Parts: sequence; structure tokens; C-alpha cells
Amino acid sequence: MINKRENTFFIETFGCQMNVNDSEKVAGLLQAEGYASVGEPARADVVFINTCAVREGAAEKLYHSLGRLRQLKTQNPQLVIGVGGCVAQLQGQRVLKRAPHVDVLVGTHNFSRVPELIRQARVGLTPGVDLDRGADAFTVPSGAIAHTSTVRAYVTAMEGCNHVCSFCVVPKTRGPEVNRPSEQIVAEVRSLVARGFSEVMLLGQTVNAYQDGDVDFAELLARVDGVGGLRRIRFTTSHPGHVTPRLADALRDLPRVCPYLHLPVQSGSDRVLTHMRRGYTRQRYLDTVRLLRDRVPGLAFSSDIIVGYPGESERDFEQTLDLVEAVGFDGVFVFGYSARPGTSAFRVPDDVPEAEKRRRVTLLNDRQQETQARRNREWVGSRVEVLVDTIREGGSVSGRTPHFRIVHLEGSAALLGQFVEVQVTGAGANSLSGRPCGRLSSAPTHANNSLTASSGNPIL
Ligand code: SAM
Repeated sequence: MINKRENTFFIETFGCQMNVNDSEKVAGLLQAEGYASVGEPARADVVFINTCAVREGAAEKLYHSLGRLRQLKTQNPQLVIGVGGCVAQLQGQRVLKRAPHVDVLVGTHNFSRVPELIRQARVGLTPGVDLDRGADAFTVPSGAIAHTSTVRAYVTAMEGCNHVCSFCVVPKTRGPEVNRPSEQIVAEVRSLVARGFSEVMLLGQTVNAYQDGDVDFAELLARVDGVGGLRRIRFTTSHPGHVTPRLADALRDLPRVCPYLHLPVQSGSDRVLTHMRRGYTRQRYLDTVRLLRDRVPGLAFSSDIIVGYPGESERDFEQTLDLVEAVGFDGVFVFGYSARPGTSAFRVPDDVPEAEKRRRVTLLNDRQQETQARRNREWVGSRVEVLVDTIREGGSVSGRTPHFRIVHLEGSAALLGQFVEVQVTGAGANSLSGRPCGRLSSAPTHANNSLTASSGNPIL
């Protein structure tokens, strides 16, 4: 039974998969200390907020949450409030100045210290702060991670980023690249499979830059692919500058590696790419996509794009629209530029008006939705392998194909974690729908599944 007064926690997470994975580590560590998770802050003795600093809006969410928690703390002075992750790392003591009711503050490399700092806070030793970016970020034991999903598990492959993109605060929040030893990664995957996970997603800010001694990213994929019982491997985020023929071959040849690549381009204009210091041109990006498509037939692509970067003209934006059309992405995340303190772009005027940024975001999203609807329609009539990962309301479930397409189908909770063969009967811009036509008992190779659509690759 949960001891409500002493042993409960609630975690709120903002940001990307890496932040989610960090929260899973904190949750696991707290559970190991005897805490139980609850669904709302009002029932918790410890509230931990894991933060994202990539855009101003995301960073400000922290203070909105802390504003709401101030009242809870007034009602319950024993409540321990912790803040961790990217905003904590970036703003440090300024978080405590703005929100003195925070008891624990940890940076991106210090999550393993959360239980200890909470213990100190509970005996009045506050605030407990650890922002040491030199600390070993991989100290949370694999077995202690409380994975949110029972189907797909995140696995940290590397921390930090060595790139110098003008807009990006990540190198400031997460520091330079640190590669996790490959044996640790493989051992974690092995233990996840033993616990029933079918799919892993390897995480890193530029995961395809992974290098541990002689083990590059393609070799890491090969070693993870060798883990018996594992069915699917995904990874994110890849940087176009680190795509190699070896990576393409790994995507083609390793049966468990899913045929899907998230490859942020950020802009289709050479002028903007140069300012952004992305390290490639528009043509080189297109060449990279071509190399991958030549070697890996049917490979699905998604991307991140920033619009309204300082000085981005209508012509620059049109080049982005044109590139997006030329590649024919399967998904695109579009962001309005947000000036971030500490980045080099922060020093130049943020001169594209917010209304214009919103117009560009909408236009690009609308175009992309048309492309996705068209590409998804090509799957109608084909059979795909779906790993069911979500139970929806009203007696239906959904899951993902190897190409990361969402598929909705009739079914009950019993299908969660199952591989189902699905006949695709409908398609929208963001998902497919279909009916189960068999449950797959053994691990099929992706090449034999989900590539039955008539789909030709788009113009390049
Ligand atoms: N490390 C990855 C990379 O650079 O490709 C992903 C980093 S970030 C967590 C995810 C996305 O947020 C980026 O790919 C970029 O499109 C977007 N982003 C980063 N900084 C931004 C900024 N200052 N304003 C708007 N979007 C931003």
C-alpha cells in the first residue's frame, strides 16, 4: 500500500526522448528507494520537473509549473520540489532565485544524485544542488531505469554534442560528446530483452557520430543486432554530416534495424545553413538522401526544420519548401526560430516577426501534410508488420510499422507488445488504419515486411 505522506513522487517531463529517458532514470532510482509513482502532484511528497531549454517556450514551462507548485508547497511545507535537466544546467542558481521554493537542482549529468539530495532536503538541508557537468552521466544502473513503455525502451548511447550550430543550446546544456562504452549498451539491451522488451531506441544528440575505440555507430548497431530475442532497433538523432556508407549498409543489412532515419536538415537554403554552421550544403544533404535511398530501398525519412531564422528571406524559405518537396519526407517537425541565450545566433537580431514565423510554420506543415497523405495512401492494400504499443479508448489499439508509421486497428489490451500483421485499409496524413490478418510469431526481417507498397521514391 502507498504511504501517501512519505513515499510518493510525481515527475513532469518536458522535451525530447533524452529528457524522457532521464526522467525514467530518476523514477527508477526513486522506486528503488521505496517511493511509488502517483499521477498528480497534489498526491506527491516529491515533485520533480525535468526540463528542456531548446526553445524559450519549453524553458518557460518550468516556471509555469513552479508557479502552480508554490501553492501546493504553501499547503504542504514538507513537499520536496526538484528541478533537473537542461534548464537547470543552463540557468543554475538563477532557478533558485526565481523560484526559492525549489529544494533540489540537478544538471544533465547528475540525475543519479537525486535520491541523495532529496534525502538531504527532507531533513532540512536545502537547497541541494549538483550541476557538475564533468560527472559521469552513465552511472544510473540499467536495471534501475523505470521505462515508461513496456514495449519500446530508450537506451542512452551517448551524451552531449560536439557541433557548434549557431541556434542550438544543447552543447551548453549537455556538454561535449561522451560515448557510453559499447559493452554497457549491449548489456543493457540484453537485460531489456530478458525483461520482455521487443524494441530499443538508441539515443544521442548526434547518435550516428558514436565512437567507442574501434566501435563506430554501424558496428554498435551490428552488436546490438546480435542480441538474441530483440526484434527492432531504432535510433535518434542522426546528423547528416555523420552519415556514412557503412551506416547505409547497416540500415540495409541488419535485420533488426528499422528502415527509418530521422535526419534533421534545418533549412533548404545554403545561405541559412552556412549561418547555422550545420557543416553541409543543400546539395550535400540531397546527395546523402540519394546515397541512402540507393543503398536502402524504401528507407523512410523524417526531419527537423527551423523557420524564421535571423535574416531568413522569403527566397530562403522557398528553398526550404522546395527541399522538403524534393525529398518527400515521411514526417517533418517544424519549429519557429527561438533565440536562445548562450548561442552565437543570439547575438544577431531575431528579425523575422513572430507572425511571419507562424505563417511559415503553417505553410510548411500544410505542404508536408499533403505529402504525407499522398505517401500514406500508397500503403493502402499492402500488408505491414505492426508492433502494438498503445491501447486507445473504445476498443482499439495502435502501433508502429518498421517505417515508424502509426497504424490504428481494432483490438484489445491483449495485443499490447504483440507483432500483428495488418492489412492496410485506410490512410490519413498522420496514420494508417487496417485490420489484423495474423499474429507474427517469429521475428520477420523488415525487408520481407512493409515493403509491399507500390511506393516509388519521390523526386530527388
Ligand atoms: N541534436 C539534434 C540536431 O541538431 O539535429 C537535435 C536537437 S534539438 C533537441 C531538436 C530540434 O529542435 C532541432 O533539430 C532543431 O530543429 C530544433 N531547435 C533547436 N534549437 C532551436 C532554436 N533555437 N529554435 C527553434 N528550434 C530549435
